[in-house]
This record gives sequence, C-alpha cells and structure tokens, in this order.
Amino acid sequence: MRPNHHLDDATVLSYSAGALPTAMNVVASAHLERCPHCRGRVHVAERIGGTLMQQQRGEAPRQDDRDAMLALLDREPETAPAATALASRADAADVVEPPDRDRLPTALHPWFGPSMRALKWRRIAPGVQRIRAGSVAGGELMLLRIAPGSRLPLHSHGGTELTMILDGAYDDVLGHFGPGDVADLDGQTLHQPVTAPGVPCVCVAATDAPLVFSGWFARRLQPLLGF
Ligand SMILES: [Zn+2]
Repeated sequence: MRPNHHLDDATVLSYSAGALPTAMNVVASAHLERCPHCRGRVHVAERIGGTLMQQQRGEAPRQDDRDAMLALLDREPETAPAATALASRADAADVVEPPDRDRLPTALHPWFGPSMRALKWRRIAPGVQRIRAGSVAGGELMLLRIAPGSRLPLHSHGGTELTMILDGAYDDVLGHFGPGDVADLDGQTLHQPVTAPGVPCVCVAATDAPLVFSGWFARRLQPLLGF
C-alpha cells in the first residue's frame, strides 16, 4: 500500500539540503524508505539545489526562478524522467517484497532497534505507551502506541511535528492516516486524532517544540504525558 499523506515542500527542501534537525531527519528518512512519490520529489529538490549552487557562483536566483523551482516539487514524479525511473524501481521492489509488519524502517534502527515486537513500551497514560529515543539534538524523537478507538486531547503545536504511522491508523481533520503516511504539521494545525478500531496505532514522532494543548484538562495532562 502506498502512502497518501506526504512530506511538505519545506521538509523535502530541508531534507535535500541536509538542514533538517536530527529527529525530523529520522522520521523523514523512514517515510522516504516507503514512499516512491517523496523519493522522486527529493530527487527533483537535489537537482534544484545543484542549480542554485551554480547560480550562486554567478548571480543570485530571482524570486520567480525560485517559485518555478518550488512548483517543480508539486509535479507528479512522472514529469521528471529520472524520478520516474527511481519510482518504478521502488514500485517493483514493493511488489516483490511487501514491507514486513514487524520490521521497523531502517532509519529507526539506531534509535529503536529493528523489530516492532521487541519494543519495550512504557505506559504514560491510559491507552498510551511511549518509547523515547535517547538524547536527540534540537528536538524529541519518540515512538507512540495508542490503543484502538482512542481520542487524543485536542492540540496544536508550538513548532513543527512530523509523525509517521508504522501500524494501525487514525483519523483527524486532515483525513485518514495509515501505515507509511506522514503528518507534517506546523503551529497552525489544531487536531484531535482518533485511532481506528482493531489494532493499536503505532507511530514515530519528531517534534522541535512542545505541543500546545487548547483545553485546560489537556494542559494539566501535558506535564504527565511529557510532550
Ligand atoms: Zn511521501
């Protein structure tokens, strides 16, 4: 199954420039392992970066050049021949070898190990378990495991949050998020995820600032949750 929710343009550009904070970079890399669409966009962004570097040696890029380059990122990979080749190779690989449900994305192995089953969860609230990565420069990196059919507190974000679903699913105002999907959120998004029935929703989340809860109850809960 292909992801339906992707990295936003700013994240793709920062990733390509090697400018994402470590925690965000880990989650973006995990999504890229499973998303031919975003791998194609990174490939385009790297070409844009190469062009910009060439222009830096000459004259500075004009705003409309930059806008045209950013518009390229929103084009389907089919319009970029090299990206199409990359995507179709990945598609072929996906068909031959579907992702092993127990195996975490390779980008997560240094932080959490390779196996979903072997994870040692710690309960932090009713229905919510977490594993924090060790110290991660400039942010938080954690795995969350939320019981099926749970409604999380309504919250927005003081900074950026990048979350990738590893198993299970949830729904919020932005849609349905299943395995491989990423929620690439900034401080403007107010959301209240509700996990799907059936299996727990397991996701990896990177934040660069504390979450901002809007209800008094959730605000009081926040220190306990440690977000
Ligand atoms: Zn994607």
